[in-house]
Amino acid sequence: LASRDFHPDDTIIEVKGVKIGGEHLAIMGGPCAVESPEQIDEIARLVKAAGAQVLRGGAFKPRTGPYSFQGIGVEGLKMMADAGERHGLLTITEVMTPEYVDVCAEYADILQVGTRNMQNFDLLRALGTCGRPVLLKRGFSATYDELLNAAEYILAGGNRDVMLCERGIRTFETYTRNTLDLSAIPVLQGLSHLPVISDPSHGTGRRELVEPMAKASVAAGANGLIIEMHTDPDNSMTGDGVQSLFPDQFSNLLQDLEKLAPLV
Ligand code: PEP
Ligand code: MN
Repeated sequence: LASRDFHPDDTIIEVKGVKIGGEHLAIMGGPCAVESPEQIDEIARLVKAAGAQVLRGGAFKPRTGPYSFQGIGVEGLKMMADAGERHGLLTITEVMTPEYVDVCAEYADILQVGTRNMQNFDLLRALGTCGRPVLLKRGFSATYDELLNAAEYILAGGNRDVMLCERGIRTFETYTRNTLDLSAIPVLQGLSHLPVISDPSHGTGRRELVEPMAKASVAAGANGLIIEMHTDPDNSMTGDGVQSLFPDQFSNLLQDLEKLAPLV
């Protein structure tokens, strides 16, 4: 179902009037984690003002260590839904377990599968019937074929609104957090009709690399970008402040991107 062989036309996913896929560029911006109503509301305001269409924010965080901040849960979903509605943005949030699919689908417009859960097959099956578009992140050690097979689990359940996301893979390089595999963008678009989104934030782990890699992703043909932005990155509750853009950097980046491809 993911293969271009049986579906030559690009899939365009329409969410409340916003079209993701095809010629336009979808921009999803926001903090790694929802931290408070004030934080997410202020960031939503800035995301909207910059011209993006989707507010990102994690309420359930898949942290490497069990003692790290794990997200604020359902309360965070509600805060983000409120902020999205107030500022006229769609919302995307990560869901980690099948049990939480329904509540995440109730509050968010798009559900995200994180890199660590790309092959959580029970989760993928549950997303096949969730009634929401899904952004499926590539596992940090997954091949293209494994990513496409993971997408197939969601599609096979009846949900045809799946986006693929390149978010960097693990290589021998330690300067960057991950190596953003730009080749994934044209390769996946050749193999599949599904929209391909790039995540230059997790793909590099370094703020100064987000802008060039965002532009490179668009030059490579990405249908959208998911980018971390924070009003106070040095004090963010996850370690991802180091890769989060400041609001003015986010806004300047979107102005530059608009010259490369029309925003949705
Ligand atoms: C995130 O988007 O904040 C996230 C945890 O991403 P990834 O699954 O790519 O690490
Ligand atoms: Mn993050």
